[in-house]
Amino acid sequence: MARYTGPVCRLCRRHGEKLFLKGDRCFTPKCSFDRRPNPPGPRPSRRRKISDRGLQLREKQRARVSYGLLEKQFRNYYKEATRLPGVSGENLVRLLETRLDNAFYRAGFADSRIQARQVVRHGLVSLNGRKLDIPSAHVKIGDVITFTPRGGRSEFFKIAKDGMRGKNPPSWLSVDAGQMTFRVLAEPAIAHGESHLFNENVVIEYYSR
Ligand code: SF4
Repeated sequence: MARYTGPVCRLCRRHGEKLFLKGDRCFTPKCSFDRRPNPPGPRPSRRRKISDRGLQLREKQRARVSYGLLEKQFRNYYKEATRLPGVSGENLVRLLETRLDNAFYRAGFADSRIQARQVVRHGLVSLNGRKLDIPSAHVKIGDVITFTPRGGRSEFFKIAKDGMRGKNPPSWLSVDAGQMTFRVLAEPAIAHGESHLFNENVVIEYYSR
């Protein structure tokens, strides 16, 4: 599956806020946004007022970039969210949050979604005892996610285990940091406020025009 391969920190500067795409680095003085918060490229000659449509676009882009998706992939999630029964905005958040790479990151096993995606891609993660190297696969209630035997022997496993202290997983995941395993207890609920990376209603409005 295609993915963005350009400079990641540039995305934060483009969107005018920290998107925390690089894990620990985002909390250090090395953060590019902290050092240069201005947008990349030449300085605009005059400041333009952003239209409502522009604000919607900005919110959609922020959501898309935060989950590390390209436009086509993100639009497909919107289509799926509107096709499913229930509230489209909540469906969209649920579809994004239950991606395997996102759940792995939310459990605290990776510093960022980018890192989680790479670990899944490299075949270090298992779902219900079977290796699964598809970051966009969805987890569901009752699923147990852990490392494969090869993943358990990897250098990444040791780093991830050491880094588990102080991590605060959401209530829809039950994490066993000792065994480096987590179980999906419930669907990620927007009401919990833990999955609110973006305003889902604005994103739905943007696409439904
Ligand atoms: Fe964004 Fe993190 Fe890069 Fe800072 S270090 S600009 S928060 S991705």
